[in-house]
Amino acid sequence: MYSLLHCHFESALRALDLARPERVHHLRALYRTPGYLGSSPAERLTLLWRTVLSLTEDDEEIFAESTFHLVVQRLLAEMRASQVEHADLRIGPSTGRWRWMRSAADGIDIFRKELAGSHDLSIAFLAGINMTKPADELDALFDLLLTDGELTARLAGVDVNFLAADLPKFNRYLTALQALQTAGLKVNIHLGELFGNEISHHVLSQITPDRIGHGVLLLHDQYLVEMIKERDVCLDMCPTSNTLLGVTDWTHHSPASRALQLGIPVSINTDDPVLFRTDIDREIHRAGLTDGQRDMVVACAKRYRYGTS
Ligand SMILES: [Zn+2]
Repeated sequence: MYSLLHCHFESALRALDLARPERVHHLRALYRTPGYLGSSPAERLTLLWRTVLSLTEDDEEIFAESTFHLVVQRLLAEMRASQVEHADLRIGPSTGRWRWMRSAADGIDIFRKELAGSHDLSIAFLAGINMTKPADELDALFDLLLTDGELTARLAGVDVNFLAADLPKFNRYLTALQALQTAGLKVNIHLGELFGNEISHHVLSQITPDRIGHGVLLLHDQYLVEMIKERDVCLDMCPTSNTLLGVTDWTHHSPASRALQLGIPVSINTDDPVLFRTDIDREIHRAGLTDGQRDMVVACAKRYRYGTS
């Protein structure tokens, strides 16, 4: 049985895939366009998300409560079909287009309802903190995380992502992130993916994440390798995502195998399985591991996963 540690829920995209699957085909056609192929990894990701937003615009019907239930049921069915017994799932901490929700806690409660009675599955929720968003939205989000006990009681932690240009925002919210960590929430940070190691040096000099999303580029830096090893931070890697975004091509080498040889814990994951059309079996297959290493990543995922609250 598998544990998934790096999986974005992306409810809007999942709702689109359920209600308007033909539009998701359109999205995936982007991967082959010259505009996409000529862009940097960060630009590629931005392009993909702008397209998702444009494909869900002015279509409120998609975001009905009944659709949300179906989306959750489908996710649980996918977990069972892929033999995933546990997921640390990154969710949106605001209600977004799901206007009937009073807060993200309502969404989590639907998961709990659907999970009730399924003792074979568990999910821990991580609130996504997307620092590419404007400061006023982030201010509101941190306010929520620091004051809304009803929401944080349902969370295992937070998962932070940003681009190079957002480093000032990371600095601005560092104290708030440390406060969340001190209060018992886990803090995951995407590093070693969409920006260079000079930024990761800075981030890791300020805070020790409980786990790191991706981290593949960190392996090029001896100092960072030693630091991660010493602090026992698991790298949650995602082969198809890295390959499609142009971060690193896993068909030629395996960062997971390299990290394990260096003594760093690694888990293998799907990142955003709808966007990258993948599942855990495919990812483990693409990870280029020996049988022994495969057993190691499965065991790591079990060891480093978070408990449910
Ligand atoms: Zn991610």
